[in-house]
Amino acid sequence: MKKAKYVFVTGGVTSSLGKGIIAASLAKLLQARGYSSTIQKFDPYINVDPGTMNPYEHGECYVTNDGAETDLDLGHYERFLNIPTSQANNVTTGRIYQTVIDNEREGKYLGKTVQVIPHITDEIKRRMLLLGESGEYDVIITELGGTVGDIESLPYVEAVRQLRWELGTDDTCVIHLTLVPYLKAAGELKTKPTQHSVKGLQELGVQPDILVCRTEHKLTPEIRKKVALFCNVNRNAVIESIDVESIYEVPLVMLKEKLDKVTLAKLRLSAKNEPDLDKWKDFLFKLSHPKAEVNIGLVGKYVELQDAYKSISEAFNHAGSVNECNVNVVSIQSESLSEENIEDRIGQLDGVLVAPGFGDRGIEGKIDTIKYLRENNIPFFGICLGMQCAVIEYGRNVLGLKNAHSVEMNPKTKFPVIDLMEGQKKIKNKGGTMRLGAYACDIEKGSLASKVYGKNAIQERHRHRYEFNNDYLDQYKKSGMVMSGINPDNNLVEIIELPNHPFFIGVQFHPELKSTVDNPHPLFVKFVRAALDKSKEA
Ligand code: GLN
Repeated sequence: MKKAKYVFVTGGVTSSLGKGIIAASLAKLLQARGYSSTIQKFDPYINVDPGTMNPYEHGECYVTNDGAETDLDLGHYERFLNIPTSQANNVTTGRIYQTVIDNEREGKYLGKTVQVIPHITDEIKRRMLLLGESGEYDVIITELGGTVGDIESLPYVEAVRQLRWELGTDDTCVIHLTLVPYLKAAGELKTKPTQHSVKGLQELGVQPDILVCRTEHKLTPEIRKKVALFCNVNRNAVIESIDVESIYEVPLVMLKEKLDKVTLAKLRLSAKNEPDLDKWKDFLFKLSHPKAEVNIGLVGKYVELQDAYKSISEAFNHAGSVNECNVNVVSIQSESLSEENIEDRIGQLDGVLVAPGFGDRGIEGKIDTIKYLRENNIPFFGICLGMQCAVIEYGRNVLGLKNAHSVEMNPKTKFPVIDLMEGQKKIKNKGGTMRLGAYACDIEKGSLASKVYGKNAIQERHRHRYEFNNDYLDQYKKSGMVMSGINPDNNLVEIIELPNHPFFIGVQFHPELKSTVDNPHPLFVKFVRAALDKSKEA
């Protein structure tokens, strides 16, 4: 039974400084030194989870094994640490208020006025301590979303202040991530935004122990001294976080800056074990020294936003490293594709991934793309909606089911080859009601899927409402499509493939969510390999 210590990571000056990556890097270093660590993210918005937000608002929605729809930073945590997260690792203001209001209705605070302090802050604290109570972890890292100074972050900072007082300073550590901008005209790095941001925290009663300074230029010893002096931290606790090419370099940069050692010293934990990062370094070396390159199209409707397909692009990085090749992901807006321009737009690619998604926009572009890939022997990988589009394309163009469609896009279609799942038919509420999380899938022996996975029973994560309509199963099978993955409990088709093609596979689940540095996902690894073979043909 371990007694957990708590690290809080706050952010100042601006958003997008990479708090999630810093938190994940620190956890990686602690793990590499033999400490068990996990990360949780507290987000100050009122949605109960990010599942109801458009990817343009919030980037990708990451799904855990236990079916929680969460912030994409949890994806970084899993990719770095190679341990699964759960519902408990992501909490929002919406969830906190929902619990407090439910408690109030149940009469748990009977007689009292229910207020932000103490009721909301107590609920925040309860959840901050929850993972530590399992006795599994030495260090729990809690990332606070938002920026210090935001109105909505106030109860979280107050909860941290109270916890430091309750747990004592030896068991807690506050890391504040700030920006040290470079003013080109003055030729200088500026520390004032950092000073103001720390002052903002101090006014709320929280003195940070460590400052991680995001910067485009190296911090001089004078700058470090100045930041330390004016922000009231030790000089060795001013950590430089300089821009790097790849997020996977950050743990090594933080190791060099001793973020882990300073944190451990603050928590009165020993840093005697040297971190074992051999596997990580090997991954990074291969990632940055590719021997070949492949061009893979990513056809989707949210491609303008980098974060919308975060796990997919990271899974390509993992697979690229294994194959020692640079995966150049070419983003293609599916709305811009039509039968007339398909050849020009995708004819030269070594493979195409058709992305997950919702709704009608850009759907015909995806279907036209798949037809072209199928007929021209170009590797195809469809995820969720991408797999559903492959079923629609095959229905229309091979089976002659005119205008076959998914009921999601055309509720009146004569050939509903993709239909609403039975269990979804009575559901009215949108939040948290999809088929979510890990489910089993049995794989047909001898299939492409079984070669890819090297086993015949898998578990993958899901996030969908529609499925292959089994009324059409015989028709598809007879004409050559192989339904190679089936859920053993309800016969839902999980994987489809075409045998007489170099690589044509569609999956109803989201393999990208399980790809990590230590365990690159086999579907991505083999898809990149197929693209590599294709590139050599030319
Ligand atoms: N919109 C489709 C469904 O709900 C696919 C979802 C997805 O791609 N994640 O079934």
